[in-house]
Amino acid sequence: MALTSPARILYTSCPLCGHTSIAPFKKGDCSKHHIYHPDIPPVMTWMKCADCEHVFTDGYFTDEACKLIFSKTQENQMVGYQLEAQRAVSARMIEKVLPYQSSGAWMDIGIGNGSLLFTADEYGFDVVGMDLRKDNIDILNRLNYEAYCMDFQTFDRPGAFSVISMADVLEHMPFPVPALKHVHTLLKDGGITFISLPNSENVVWRIMDENNANPYWGEIEHYHNFSRSRLFKLLSDNGFEPLRYSISERYRVCMEILAVKK
Ligand SMILES: [Zn+2]
Repeated sequence: MALTSPARILYTSCPLCGHTSIAPFKKGDCSKHHIYHPDIPPVMTWMKCADCEHVFTDGYFTDEACKLIFSKTQENQMVGYQLEAQRAVSARMIEKVLPYQSSGAWMDIGIGNGSLLFTADEYGFDVVGMDLRKDNIDILNRLNYEAYCMDFQTFDRPGAFSVISMADVLEHMPFPVPALKHVHTLLKDGGITFISLPNSENVVWRIMDENNANPYWGEIEHYHNFSRSRLFKLLSDNGFEPLRYSISERYRVCMEILAVKK
């Protein structure tokens, strides 16, 4: 079934700072991606903002195009994937949070394979999961976890959460700023957000680019390639104070940031 309109809605300004001086920066090929669908254009055009230097795709997918893409799920995004190995990885992520928040409610946005949520539960947090993949939420509900298949930005429980994690999620959102503002609303005072995503500001990224072997320019589900410094500024501009930087064990060249609600 062919798409009835272009797959992407084009950005007319920078999705982070709103500046209209945006220009093409790089092309990527997503046609080899596991969840590529032939109705989606194979070339991804990445733009750069002249004002804040953020790098993002030229547009985000329509609901119709999203349905095509979300009709396939990558193995590592299915609940239960490598359950035991992922438990150890998730535990090391949680250990980074414990010095700042060690109890209370933990919302995981974009549960993926569920490991972070299961392990946060094991560490004694009251966990709530959010995901757009209904199959994953159905499994969590069957296992008696509180979990919702909805856009978390419509979830209304202000000040309820000690921790909100977005592990490899922010780069999938067309507009990260309103998402961060809602995370801020949902957190209690002193609450922590845990954010992981690729970092374009390191030697590994540069070498991958030089070798024309950087998978992130063809990552069909991503709309953004953040640098560490742009993410830190974005957090500061939206009511958070970045607390610590570390690298991620889950995906290549990713960073993990903890930030506290100011
Ligand atoms: Zn900008």
